[in-house]
This record gives sequence, structure tokens and C-alpha cells, in this order.
Amino acid sequence: MVKKLPFNKERVEEIMETEPSPFYLYDEKGLRENARRFLRAFSWLPNFKNYFAVKACPNPYILKILKEEGMGADCSSLPELILAERVGLKGEEIMFSSNDTAAGEFKKARDLGAIINLDDITFIEKLEKEAGLPELICVRYNPGPLRKIKGNPIIGKPEEAKYGMTKEQIFEAIEILKKKGAKRFGLHTMIVSNELNPDVLAGTAEMLFDLALEVEQKTKTKVEFVNLGGGIGIPYKPEEEPVDLEDLSERIKKLYEKIIIKSNLPSLGVVMECGRMVTGPYGYLVTKVSNEKHTYKEYIGVDACMANLMRPAIYGAEHHITVLGKEDLPSNHIYDVVGSLCENNDKFAINRKLPKLKIGDIIVIHDVGAHGHAMGFNYNGKLRSAELILKENGSVERIRRAETIDDYFATLDFSKI
Ligand SMILES: *Cc1c(COP(=O)(O)O)cnc(C)c1O
Repeated sequence: MVKKLPFNKERVEEIMETEPSPFYLYDEKGLRENARRFLRAFSWLPNFKNYFAVKACPNPYILKILKEEGMGADCSSLPELILAERVGLKGEEIMFSSNDTAAGEFKKARDLGAIINLDDITFIEKLEKEAGLPELICVRYNPGPLRKIKGNPIIGKPEEAKYGMTKEQIFEAIEILKKKGAKRFGLHTMIVSNELNPDVLAGTAEMLFDLALEVEQKTKTKVEFVNLGGGIGIPYKPEEEPVDLEDLSERIKKLYEKIIIKSNLPSLGVVMECGRMVTGPYGYLVTKVSNEKHTYKEYIGVDACMANLMRPAIYGAEHHITVLGKEDLPSNHIYDVVGSLCENNDKFAINRKLPKLKIGDIIVIHDVGAHGHAMGFNYNGKLRSAELILKENGSVERIRRAETIDDYFATLDFSKI
């Protein structure tokens, strides 16, 4: 897929007059159009909703845009619940899919009326003690060796993933919850990540439709909805293609007809928790070339580092790079594009073919709108950048300021030394 930018060099230079690099820049128009297309593709499903995975882009401004487009929030920590609350989401617009859940989190989720998605059977007791059991509850399934998929460094194979319950535990959990007064049930799974293969994605729906059928047969319990989790991938590399959402929807429809409608099951709702495919392609990391170095390799040093974007370092992820103003020049130089952190994996690109670069060039790193800024950290005294949004009317607004050295020191008390 050809990677296009919603801005050009002149516009970015204008922005840089008031906003120093590096910064994240989100594209509101692209974000909204994509959200609409996504929701439209699956609108035939009963009660379809996407609970946007807040961890992908925990900025309230972005969450508010997604709320306006009709999305809920999928949270897995107390601060994420608070973010959802602060943008005005409540009740069943919030899914709480935590694991290794900390004390106090269930209480907050219950106070907001969120749908609680139980990662483990032992959490029935924990939830009951801490916050009381709700009438509506979702249980998280991990098929383990029953589902053969390759996995990737982000999520691993199901049997090696820490999430969810075994099939027997799902049946048992539902029986226990029913005895304790639960009345409405959901089934959840999340077993793929950044998946572009529609067969594998539809396979998750098939697995949960089958499980809903089994639950009805084994426990005489009506399942109200299945939650397919997130995991729809995005084409990070130009040679990859995005998932055809209409095609995926059609595949899921065939399975729904074959399994749910044929079995005369009552109408089963279907929801998702996609993060990456919602915001990923609509966020850009803008950074400037600050140094060049010629040793055993050709290095280009930029003013961002892995503290601003760690996907290349931890997953070996390839993010496409555009050099502003040099789009039409031949990519006839081979560079490692690196940051300043004292870790040798602080590289945005390795052996990347790019046009000849010089200090001051502006580099745009693509597809960082999900799991990008959110994964930032402060190791080595590095500070997280600002987040800006390019609005539909063409203006740019800052939606998070850059961290300062004072922020970095804010948890220390120098009077004690
Ligand atoms: C991370 C996560 C998601 C979102 O995954 P994407 O790959 O961003 O779509 C959804 N649900 C749960 C439980 C997650 O942990």
C-alpha cells in the first residue's frame, strides 16, 4: 500500500515554528473516516460495538473523537478506567478486560457500571469480595493447544499466553456465577495480534460462536454476546495490504449464519476491542536529523529515540519512513536511523534504503498512532514528546505537552540528600 501523508514539508515547518520536534501528529480526518468505515462494515451484527483498547492511545482527546464516532473503551487498569470516565463514557460503554488484576480496580469498574471481563476463575471470589458480583459478566477464554496459530512476539501462542481460562474453567465459572445470581453472560477471547490474515481473524469468531453453542448446551445458559478482542493488524510495510473489513465482515456473517442462526440460538451480540487498526495508521512521529556518523555503517541520528517509540526495539517492528521534501528522490543510500538512548537496540530502522540525508532533514515515522506514544518511558533520562492533532479544518492543536525535566524529577525529593 502506498503510504501517503496528510501534510507536507511546508506545513510541518510551520508547525515546528511553535512546536519543537520530536512530536506525535494525529490525523483527525483519517481517524474519523476509518472509524466510520469500520463500524459500518460490521453494522449488520446485533449490538455491534468496538470498545477501543485505551492502552493503544490513551489520550482523552482521541478517546473523545472515538466516542463521538460511537466507540466505547476497553480498559485494563485503574488510570484507563478514569480516562474513560473523564471523557464521559459509562456503564456498558466500558469493557474492563484486566489480568493479574490489582486491588481496587474491580471496585472502580463496578462503580462505573463497566462490563467486567474476568480473566480467571479465581477472580469470581475476588470480585465478589471487593465489589460485589454484577448481573452482566463476561469470561475470558484461552483455547490453549485447541487453537493452533503461530503467534508473534506481541502475543505468543495461546498455550503460552497468560490470559484467559481453559474451556472447562469457562463452563465451571458460568455455573458458579449463575448460582451467585449473574443473569447475563459474555464470552471473550484475544488470541491474535497485528493479524492481517482474514482466515485467522474469522477463525476467532468461529471459535467463539462454537463456544457459545457449547455453553448453551452444557450449562443451559444463554450467551448474550461474544467479544472477539482486538488484534486486527495494519500494513506497517508498504508491500502489505490492509485487512479488507467488508470481506472480513462477510466471512464472519457466513459463520454466524452457519453456527448461530442454523442452531436456532437466540440473537447473539458481537463486539470487538480493536485498538491498533483504529488509530495506528493515523499517527505519525515527526523527528529531525540531528547528527550523522560514518563508521562501519552509515548512521543517521534523530532527535527522537526509543523512549518515544519502542516498537522497533522490542518487536523488531518495521515502520515506514518518509523524508519530507525528498519523497521523489531515489532511495539509494542505506542507513541505520538511530536515537540517542544508550542501548544498541535504539534504532528506528536498520539497513533502510533512503534518499541521501543531511542534518536538519525532517523524518516522518509512519503508523505510530497505536502502541506508540503510549509505550513511552523515561529510561536514560529521556522525556516523552508532545502529541498534536491535525484537525479536520486544517488547524493543529496540542493535545499533550512534552515532558519537561521537572516532570522527570517530580517524584524525587532533593531536600533529603
Ligand atoms: C491490547 C488489547 C487489545 C487491543 O489490541 P489491538 O492489537 O490494539 O487491536 C484488545 N483487548 C485486550 C484485552 C488487549 O489486551
